[in-house]
Amino acid sequence: MQAFRYTQAKTVDVALDPGQRFLAGGTTLVDLMKLNVETPHSVVDINLLPLDRVEPTPDGGLKVGALVRNSDLANHADVKARYTVLSEALLSGASPQLRNMATTGGNLLQRTRCYYYRDINYACNKREPGSGCPAQDGFNRIHAVLGGSDQCVATHPSDMAVAMMALEAVVHAKGAKGERQIALENFYLTPGTTPDKENVLEPDELITYVTLPRLAAGTRSHYLKLRDRAQYEFALASAAVVVQVEGSRIRRVRIALGGVGTKPWRSKEAEAVLEGKPAHTKNFEAAAAAAMRGAKPLKYNGFKIELAKQAIVRTLSMVTA
Ligand code: SF4
Repeated sequence: MQAFRYTQAKTVDVALDPGQRFLAGGTTLVDLMKLNVETPHSVVDINLLPLDRVEPTPDGGLKVGALVRNSDLANHADVKARYTVLSEALLSGASPQLRNMATTGGNLLQRTRCYYYRDINYACNKREPGSGCPAQDGFNRIHAVLGGSDQCVATHPSDMAVAMMALEAVVHAKGAKGERQIALENFYLTPGTTPDKENVLEPDELITYVTLPRLAAGTRSHYLKLRDRAQYEFALASAAVVVQVEGSRIRRVRIALGGVGTKPWRSKEAEAVLEGKPAHTKNFEAAAAAAMRGAKPLKYNGFKIELAKQAIVRTLSMVTA
């Protein structure tokens, strides 16, 4: 690991230059520093900032501080009762020790598990723009089938962000130009020709909190994660569904996918198929087909398309039963 300067931030009015990094739980950054993938000259520890609370919002939603630990958020009574999909997604991620350290803001910003990205002996456009993408013709079993480009096909690894995408969360950030709100749907970028730029945050901006909107009475939700082993493993395909059923018909539904896209993947195509229709397996299958219609398999990851369809159908069946 390269030597770096360590300081602690006392207020949220802290600005970074491009060679600096914020440190919260450290579950991504410290790993990547040990691998020399991240080599900041300066690390600003933000753990003393007062951003560690979960509070109700005036409109009946929830405000989650950026430093709320994943385990605290997953086990928060309001999250378990009303935002079940979020609690389930958080508890499906990593290990208890990691969840005790990992934070809400850090989880949104965690970096890909692409093997080539994490090994500096390989080229990688995300790590070093213009150097190449060995995953395109290499071993790409864990890579994306949605949202990729010829520059990068890395998946976003977060479970929490997939649930938050289905919940239509809003990210609040503060930087030199002031505060702003970004709908999570507009927060992440697909790689295109700039895979090193993963989201719309400016280099000096800090995520301060995330808000979850109030859910209509009767809304149900569920997160299903399919992976190689039952614990401590990233998703090969996952589905987050938030749904309101009236009688036998789906009044409103939000669907997001993990493990298959270059960002937490909201499927408006699947939602459009379902809204106003009976909660029936045939419609679930049509929605799953719509969600994966644009998928582009690589040599080793074609199985993810069927896996994601199964995840969607199964999750919809469970949450509407
Ligand atoms: Fe790098 Fe993306 Fe290619 Fe992986 S898929 S090697 S992260 S450019």
